[in-house]
Amino acid sequence: MNLSVNRLSDIVDNGLCIGCGLCQSIAGKDKIEVTMTSKGRLEPKEISKISPEIFKKIVNVCPGTIVEGLPKEEVDQSTKHDLVWGYYLSLCYTWSTDKKIRFESSTGGLLNGLSIYLLESKKVKFIMHTAADPKKPMRSLPKFSYSKKELLSGESRSRYGPAASLEKFHEALDLNQPFAFVGKPCDISAIRQLSKIDTRVNQLCKYLLTLVCGGFAEFTKAQEFIESFNVKEDELSIFRYRGYGNPGKMYIKTKDGREYDREYNSFWGEESTWRVPFRCKICPDAIGESADIAALDTWRGGSPKGEDEGFNSVIVRTKKGLDLLNEAAKTGFIHIGDKLKIEDISDFQPHQVNKKKAVYARHQGMTKSNSPTINTNGLRIEELSKLNSEKFNHDEEMGVASRIKKI
Ligand SMILES: Cc1cc2nc3c(=O)[nH]c(=O)nc-3n(C[C@H](O)[C@H](O)[C@H](O)COP(=O)(O)OP(=O)(O)OC[C@H]3O[C@@H](n4cnc5c(N)ncnc54)[C@H](O)[C@@H]3O)c2cc1C
Ligand code: SF4
Ligand code: SF4
Repeated sequence: MNLSVNRLSDIVDNGLCIGCGLCQSIAGKDKIEVTMTSKGRLEPKEISKISPEIFKKIVNVCPGTIVEGLPKEEVDQSTKHDLVWGYYLSLCYTWSTDKKIRFESSTGGLLNGLSIYLLESKKVKFIMHTAADPKKPMRSLPKFSYSKKELLSGESRSRYGPAASLEKFHEALDLNQPFAFVGKPCDISAIRQLSKIDTRVNQLCKYLLTLVCGGFAEFTKAQEFIESFNVKEDELSIFRYRGYGNPGKMYIKTKDGREYDREYNSFWGEESTWRVPFRCKICPDAIGESADIAALDTWRGGSPKGEDEGFNSVIVRTKKGLDLLNEAAKTGFIHIGDKLKIEDISDFQPHQVNKKKAVYARHQGMTKSNSPTINTNGLRIEELSKLNSEKFNHDEEMGVASRIKKI
């Protein structure tokens, strides 16, 4: 246990919280409440005293305090390994065979396509994923979808704002039905940790699917976007970050029918304007190391040059993930395209390669500033850091130390 983290507010105040909501799910809504702050982050607050036992449970699973690589028992004999990208059984292009899903989903609809396969083949009863709040479409909520219709009816595509994707995780377990979870790498990491202390997790949560993740934008970024068109949040009927094309446009529609959009690159082009929370900057696993499958974008050099038909690539991490991909392809739900090499994945994701190399120095910078950081295991970040120049590591340490003051 991280000794500097003695209460929930230590996780939040030191910028380690990602707002996943798992602590609320563990303690109950009467003890911990996750709310949107004025800075545009979802943050938990202890509203009634939690017991030391519950706090210990939270610290042992919270992605702000601990993140680990793929569990040993999930590493297949034929698994390959890369220092940056971790374990993989297969790398290839892939996308949904359903033209509508491919067009409307984030990239090529791989995650939605696999989710639908899991539902229709009855391998799971429901998918736990993230969708728009039907009453406030700029905000995101965890959703349990039991059918294709439910899954596709709630803006289940990249939601680049804050999302407490795990706040209903214990509700999902309490249903006592097999399900699959789709979420960000930090969500997956938290579920893997929870599986060590709650046997129901591995019994019921049959598949863990993720996306390679550059971090999310604080809510204020979305607020500024709608305000630039003189639209208020309660006027919105649709709020979409991308999809309906690849990447598709950032798009809003009001209840009285006004529509506005902006090109993906004009919203995301300049990285310094992303308004990504501190926790994402120090993320030791933004590439979904402990998931069964991680889906990603495939633009060479890391950003789109224009619209295309939607080409995901996939990093298959586990045998279960490989079987799922092959079965979904065999039954016609997804298409598997050309094989890829690690160099292709790095070319698609230069920002991920850079972050993975920088993150250990960033953690060191936090420790030197007497700030608690994330305990990590099996993610090779120290090993990678040793391959950097001294100057690179020094600059990263200094950079993070100056950011700590602004949390
Ligand atoms: C915050 C964020 C950052 C990303 N950064 C990168 C990146 O750096 N590189 C890259 O290649 N791709 C990134 N992506 C992923 C990319 O946008 C696509 O989601 C991915 O390629 C999968 O495409 P798809 O068509 O298979 O997804 P879809 O079939 O559209 O399915 C998307 C799935 O993701 C879930 N989801 C969406 N938003 C969230 C969220 N905020 N929290 C939890 N679950 C969510 C949905 O519920 C759905 O199940 C990011 C996505 C997000 C949400
Ligand atoms: S469990 Fe999630 S919401 Fe709770 S403190 Fe940790 S990161 Fe934040
Ligand atoms: S960058 Fe890391 S911490 Fe941030 S949302 Fe993505 S996986 Fe979670």
